[in-house]
Amino acid sequence: MSTGLTLAQAEASTTEITFADLGLSAPMLASLARAGYERPTPIQAQAVPLALKGRDLMGLAQTGTGKTAAFTIPIIERLLGGPKRTRALILTPTRELCQQVEASFQKYGEGTGLDVISIYGGVGYEPQTAALRAGVDVIVATPGRLIDHLEKQHVIFDDLEVLVLDEADRMLDMGFAPQINRIVAQIHPYRQTLLFSATMPPEVEALARKYLRKPQVVQVGRRSQAAATVRHYVYPVPKHKKTELLVHLVKSLDAEDSVLVFTRTKHGADRVVQHLAEAGYSADALHADKSQGQREQALARFKAGTTKILVATDIAQRGLDISGITHVINYDVPQQAEDYVHRIGRTGRAAKEGDAFTFMCADEIGMVRTVERVIGQEIPRISIPGFDFGT
Ligand code: AMP
Repeated sequence: MSTGLTLAQAEASTTEITFADLGLSAPMLASLARAGYERPTPIQAQAVPLALKGRDLMGLAQTGTGKTAAFTIPIIERLLGGPKRTRALILTPTRELCQQVEASFQKYGEGTGLDVISIYGGVGYEPQTAALRAGVDVIVATPGRLIDHLEKQHVIFDDLEVLVLDEADRMLDMGFAPQINRIVAQIHPYRQTLLFSATMPPEVEALARKYLRKPQVVQVGRRSQAAATVRHYVYPVPKHKKTELLVHLVKSLDAEDSVLVFTRTKHGADRVVQHLAEAGYSADALHADKSQGQREQALARFKAGTTKILVATDIAQRGLDISGITHVINYDVPQQAEDYVHRIGRTGRAAKEGDAFTFMCADEIGMVRTVERVIGQEIPRISIPGFDFGT
C-alpha cells in the first residue's frame, strides 16, 4: 500500500507548488496567507488535491508535517455554503489533539461561519450536549465520549459526508477499536474517509481495508523517520545523576528556549519537577493523574512561554502542537523505539530546528541501539565531565 516515496523525493517534487496550485478558494488562500504559510508542506501538496476530489486517503505522516491542515483545509472547502448539518467527523485519540484539530478548523475556517465543536471526556456533558443540540457542522471527538452522546441520541450522523480517523495507530494502541467500529457503523458507506497514521502496523492496515474505498496513499518520509530538522544527541549518564545532568543542561539554555522533558512514569515526572524547583527552575508536569484543568493550564502556560519547562509522560508525546519547542529531553529512553520518533516530533516542527537529548544510563544502552536502528541513524554521544558512566 506504500508509494515508497522518501522524504527527499516528496520534498523535491513539491517545493515549487503553491497553495494556489492546489485549487483552493480565494477565502481559503487568504486565511492561509493570514496564518503566514508560504507554501504547502509535502503532505498538504499531495493530500489536498486528492481530498478535494473526494477520494479516500491514507496519509502516512507523523505530527509536525502539517497533516492537520492537510485534512482540515479540504473539509472546510467542501462544507462551505452547504446546509447546516453535521457533515464532518474527526476522531482523534486524545483530548489535547481534539482541541488542536478544533483550533485548526477555527484558524483556517475563520469567517466562514462553520461551527466546530470538540467532544472529549473528563469535562461536563451539558455544554457539549447543548452545542450538539444547537447543531454543528464539524465534530472533533475522542471515541469514548462520542459514544456516550450517540447512545443518548444527542447527535445523529445521517448527513455525515466526511470521516477522518486521525492518528489511527495511536487510537488502536489506546484500545479504541470497538468504539471506532460502533461509531463508523452509524455512518453511511457513501462517505469520504481519510485515515492518518504515523505508522502502519497490520492493525491499521486492517482498519483501512475495512473502512476506506480504493484509498490513495500519501506518505511523507520513510516510516519511522525522524524530522530532518532535529539534531539528536545521547548523553551517557549514571541513573542517579540524571537529575543533576538535567539541571546542568537547563542552566545552559537561552532565555527564549523551551524544553519538553519526557519521563517514563507519572511519579518520575513529578519528581523531576520537584528537583528542578529545588534548583530554582519552575516547571509543570503533564500526565494522566493531573485533572483536565491542570493539564490545560500547564499547556497554556507552556505555550504562552510562562513556563519554559514541561515535564510529561507519553500522554503528551503525540499530536501536541506546541510551536517553538527548542529542546526535547528524554530523561528516560522510551520503552518503544517508535515512541522516540513521536517524542522528538515535538521539536523541529514545520522545518524549525530543534535539539533532542536522550539520557542513557547503563541499562538503557540496548534500547538506544534499537532506537538507532528504527530511525536509521547513529546518534552522536556527548560526554560531559563528571556525568559520564563510571564517574
Ligand atoms: P501538524 O503536523 O498538523 O501538527 O502541524 C504542525 C505545525 O505546522 C502546526 O503548527 C501548523 O500550524 C504548521 N503548519 C501547517 N502547515 C504549514 C505550512 N504550509 N507552512 C508553515 N507551517 C505550517
